[in-house]
Amino acid sequence: ITVGFVKENAANESRVAVVPETAAKMLALGWQVLFEPEAGLAAGFPDSHYPDTCQLAKRRTDVLEAADILVSVNGLNETDLPHLKQGAVVIGMVSPYSDQQRFVQAADHKLTVFSMELIPRITRAQAMDVLSSQAAVAGYKAVLLAASEAPRFFPMLTTAAGTIRPAQVLVIGAGVAGLQAIATAKRLGANVTGYDVRPETVEQVKSLGAKFLDLGVNAVGEGGYARELTAEEKQTQQDNLAEHLKSVDVLITTAAVPGRPAPEIVSQSMVENMKAGSVIVDLGAEGGGNCGPTKAGETVMVGQVKVIGPVNLPASVPLHASEMYARNIWNLLNIMHQESDFTLDWDDEILAGAVVTRDGQVVHAAVKQGLG
Ligand code: NAD
Repeated sequence: ITVGFVKENAANESRVAVVPETAAKMLALGWQVLFEPEAGLAAGFPDSHYPDTCQLAKRRTDVLEAADILVSVNGLNETDLPHLKQGAVVIGMVSPYSDQQRFVQAADHKLTVFSMELIPRITRAQAMDVLSSQAAVAGYKAVLLAASEAPRFFPMLTTAAGTIRPAQVLVIGAGVAGLQAIATAKRLGANVTGYDVRPETVEQVKSLGAKFLDLGVNAVGEGGYARELTAEEKQTQQDNLAEHLKSVDVLITTAAVPGRPAPEIVSQSMVENMKAGSVIVDLGAEGGGNCGPTKAGETVMVGQVKVIGPVNLPASVPLHASEMYARNIWNLLNIMHQESDFTLDWDDEILAGAVVTRDGQVVHAAVKQGLG
């Protein structure tokens, strides 16, 4: 079995899907590991850091043509696809809900495509959960971005030049990214408040030493995730939040509802009423934004309030984001073999849940639905 990986060619992508540690694990199974020159360089893993028994290809296409399993960060793209061996397995964050014609092409090419995003979020699959690992990176980096853009300190300082009061940070959405943002802002010494619509987050926020903001809305949906709010609930949330926002220096928003655009929680006028010099980092930017003025990939000024809409933040912490991602990938590969034999057990709910194409067909229900 040959596992291949290449340099990611999506814009601003610096992560890599296989790191030296996980390459060694694949080699230990008796598998071959073949990679494109400098595949991991941008993430901090030069070719020489990979085990000597890995094979360095001459060209990208050599990897694509030889790989039985191609592992990647961003998955399928139209330039690479025709070079892949018919029948190969492709694993990556393939964005199953966008540009779905790619999957028809992949199925025609007899590829078996696994989407890391579609791995069921069950306990046994936690070690493969890229949504969690990458969200943790994003939550951490969002706070650092805010801290470096804010005109103030985060911690309280007692100095000969007087006392500096700590920054007031509010984190909206206390999922994986939000909790990491809260922890990071706490470590920087800020006064941190968290908010979510799922009641179980109250304890989680408090266990990090932050306060919980109660806005009087409780919206648990399927599988323990949040559901969309009703118009009335949204109004209650907004009225209470508008008041609180007037005292906030830094706002980090991370709210998401699975399969839906990011909920807009902070309106343009709420931003206008925030203090001059406040900074917002909207992690919902890629999904349309949690704040009215947010523009993905841009920083917008609303009066004196800075609204930052970052895209692909995990790629800006490429070493650890890659390390975590690569371990997620390895943990998935680890249920795809018996001894050194590669086998796919379709009775395994993880494999069955994450597969998008196999046997020449698009098989994932949601992707099929998207194709009409
Ligand atoms: P997510 O990215 O889908 O959403 C982020 C947060 O936004 C969630 O906490 C959600 O409740 C919140 N949110 C949604 N609408 C909101 C609104 N209108 N106002 C305020 N907040 C709103 O979620 P996630 O971080 O991927 O996961 C959420 C939780 O799911 C985790 O904290 C964890 O408990 C659980 N989870 C379990 C597993 C597992 O068992 N394998 C894996 C991952 C996550």
